[in-house]
Amino acid sequence: MKQQCLLCNEKFIGRSDKKFCSDQCRHAYNNQNKKDHELFITTVNKILRKNRMILHQLGPVGKSTVRKEYLDKMGFDFQFITHTFTTKNNNTYKFCYEYGYLEIEGDKILIILWQDYMANRAQLSGFHSSKPS
Ligand SMILES: [Zn+2]
Repeated sequence: MKQQCLLCNEKFIGRSDKKFCSDQCRHAYNNQNKKDHELFITTVNKILRKNRMILHQLGPVGKSTVRKEYLDKMGFDFQFITHTFTTKNNNTYKFCYEYGYLEIEGDKILIILWQDYMANRAQLSGFHSSKPS
């Protein structure tokens, strides 16, 4: 049976319930019809997940120091984080989900894991807490 692709109008042969000539056209059509804010959320989630994966690969058990260039090379996007945690020494860790990092001297990055007390102390004393150990 001859069908017509909903996106590119190309005629194609396929089952009667097939609406697109290819997966590419199907994806493009679906993306076109998503609301802009949904696309933005999807895009940001992708970046955050990638950031998280990079931190996980470089500091799988938390508390490791790596050179900033490694994160750059792996495609880490420093613009996107989920939340922050500021210690009482005024160091602000930036988090991507449960992995956090702090930029330290010499172009290095300290990677840590989110700890439960960070959430508790943050609520009790306005985001000031002792240094993660
Ligand atoms: Zn098509």
